[in-house]
Amino acid sequence: MIAEKIKALKNELPSHVKLVVVSKFRTISEIMEVYQTGHRVFGENRIQNLMERKSDLPDDIEWHLIGQLQTNKVKYISSFISMIHSLDSLKLAREIQKYGVRHQRSIDCLIQIHIAREETKSGILPSDLDTILAEPEWQNLTKVNIRGVMAMASNVADEAVVRQEFKSVYAIFKRLKEVYFRNSPHFDTISMGMSNDHKIAVEEGSNLVRIGSLIFE
Ligand SMILES: *Cc1c(COP(=O)(O)O)cnc(C)c1O
Repeated sequence: MIAEKIKALKNELPSHVKLVVVSKFRTISEIMEVYQTGHRVFGENRIQNLMERKSDLPDDIEWHLIGQLQTNKVKYISSFISMIHSLDSLKLAREIQKYGVRHQRSIDCLIQIHIAREETKSGILPSDLDTILAEPEWQNLTKVNIRGVMAMASNVADEAVVRQEFKSVYAIFKRLKEVYFRNSPHFDTISMGMSNDHKIAVEEGSNLVRIGSLIFE
């Protein structure tokens, strides 16, 4: 079942769209069913779970952190994490820099943008982005490799609202690329779209989707 669902999903996604399988709440054997199909990219939203899964599962998995990251937890994941989707402050970037230096690796990060109506969702408000990104200090954060943006749309039934939010994120991505990342060819990732809204997200320019329940339920 799981194997069929992941194959169907991969057939449906355009080839330029990367799939992160969100393994939160799933058992090791469920995750291994996905792994056995050849898939190697997984995402977790909590540090504790991420570390447990990393130690319980094969070493060739590419792990993505998709949930909020507190500065005091960076040290637990900095040696192995493939991408942090939740960069939301300069303070967090400084900590990632510190551990990037320690482990002698650059760490791929996405700037999380708070686009949804829900106040519970995290990320940087669009109106705060320029204040944060204009800080000269970013020049020193050589181990923080900013690859693009991540956002979650509002959890509402109205597709027009969701589509409009994804459109806004895409426009923000384009603007940030022009203004702050003109000389960074690796600023190329737009992480948006989950089980319920990945089709709309891809139509609106996403090239990385994070999908859990659609595969496992
Ligand atoms: C849980 C989660 C997902 C996946 O959600 P599904 O609806 O299960 O596909 C994607 N992104 C983030 C940030 C999540 O926390």
